[in-house]
Amino acid sequence: MKKILLSFALLGTLSMSVRAAADQPADASSFDQLLKQITVETPAAPEPAFNIEKTEVLPAEGRFWVTVKAADKYERTRLLEAGMDIVEIKGDLVSGFAGQHTMDALSSKAFSLVSKMTVEQKYARGVTKDFPAADAAYHNYKETTDLLNQLASKNSDIASVFSIGKTTEGRDIWCLRINASAKGTAPSSKPGAFFLGNVHAREHLANEVPLLFASWLFDHRNDADIKRYISTLDIYIIPMGNPDGVEYDIKGGKYQYFRKNARVNPDKSIGVDLNRNFDSWWCEAGASTYPGADTYCGPKAFSEPESQHLRDFMLARKNLKTHISYHSYASEILYPWGGNDADVPNAKDKDAFVKMSGEMGKLTGYTARKSSDMYIATGDSCDWAYDKGGILAFTFELEGNGFYPGAGLITKTVNSNIKAAVYLLSKTANPYN
Ligand SMILES: [Zn+2]
Repeated sequence: MKKILLSFALLGTLSMSVRAAADQPADASSFDQLLKQITVETPAAPEPAFNIEKTEVLPAEGRFWVTVKAADKYERTRLLEAGMDIVEIKGDLVSGFAGQHTMDALSSKAFSLVSKMTVEQKYARGVTKDFPAADAAYHNYKETTDLLNQLASKNSDIASVFSIGKTTEGRDIWCLRINASAKGTAPSSKPGAFFLGNVHAREHLANEVPLLFASWLFDHRNDADIKRYISTLDIYIIPMGNPDGVEYDIKGGKYQYFRKNARVNPDKSIGVDLNRNFDSWWCEAGASTYPGADTYCGPKAFSEPESQHLRDFMLARKNLKTHISYHSYASEILYPWGGNDADVPNAKDKDAFVKMSGEMGKLTGYTARKSSDMYIATGDSCDWAYDKGGILAFTFELEGNGFYPGAGLITKTVNSNIKAAVYLLSKTANPYN
């Protein structure tokens, strides 16, 4: 839970900033104030933490952190299919989460299990609170909702907020729209850019990047370039695509290492992997049919309200040209296909993917490559967006040393990603230029 600290209020009041000198109260939704808040609120040592006293947060079967040998992307793909949630790839070793069902598969001769430990053992470093105090700067669902509404009301001439639909548990999935001539769901023929975050629950940095990018855009709305993008483009930002999962991940004040949505499956396990639930080679490779697995593809393509709403949102907007879906963590920029070995068949699009990902890689320091070069994963939202909408769609795997890299990383990550996001805007009217 992010708190406005008294010290922050005092600091804001006493600050010698230009804003204060200009005799205006500090605006809590401005980009500079949001970053200042992160700095003030962030105590030292934002280590990932896990409460070993109360393990009710874990799925009943328990989960393990495993390291397995996998020589290439095909072996990594097989691990995904066994239900393993691949988190780190180092040479021919792959590490990640595995439930009991997956452990059974990994113990067979088909795989070479190098090490395993329980999630509690891996993360037994202390007890945290909701959002853990050290990470109070991260925006939970309510804070994200409030900030989107503040930004829209402060910039009501060019901004609006609407819901693209409700989640499994009935939360609205909020979308901020920036368009100088159309509000809410009114159609627009201007070229569209779509920024999506936090489809995977525990990837909280993937909410901060698009959310704070929105704040930055408004602060810079009178800069020549930004002004032109705002007046000529149709910009959509959905920072939190999976609110149920996010709230589940931080409930009780400690992280749950939770990835999926909050669907209760028939076997009582929780969640479908939304990024395996899109109708692009659905559940063919790199996904699991086992409901308890982190990579569970769901009972059918688009079985989940969250993926349905994202689908309908994109189908209804034929003007969308470019897209980034933010995830964490690998410091990579990925382009289609993810669900198939092949390159996209359209040479012009392929060139645009390579060029744009390369440029955004320079701005962020991330590695650009075809998604399936890492492993093959079907049911991916960006594959679907490109296939069905012709949208030049990129998956950003943000930086960090884990899913909970601490609030200290927000400023750096947001700043470098703003440059990449602005670059995307610069290419939206003509990506092939
Ligand atoms: Zn992800």
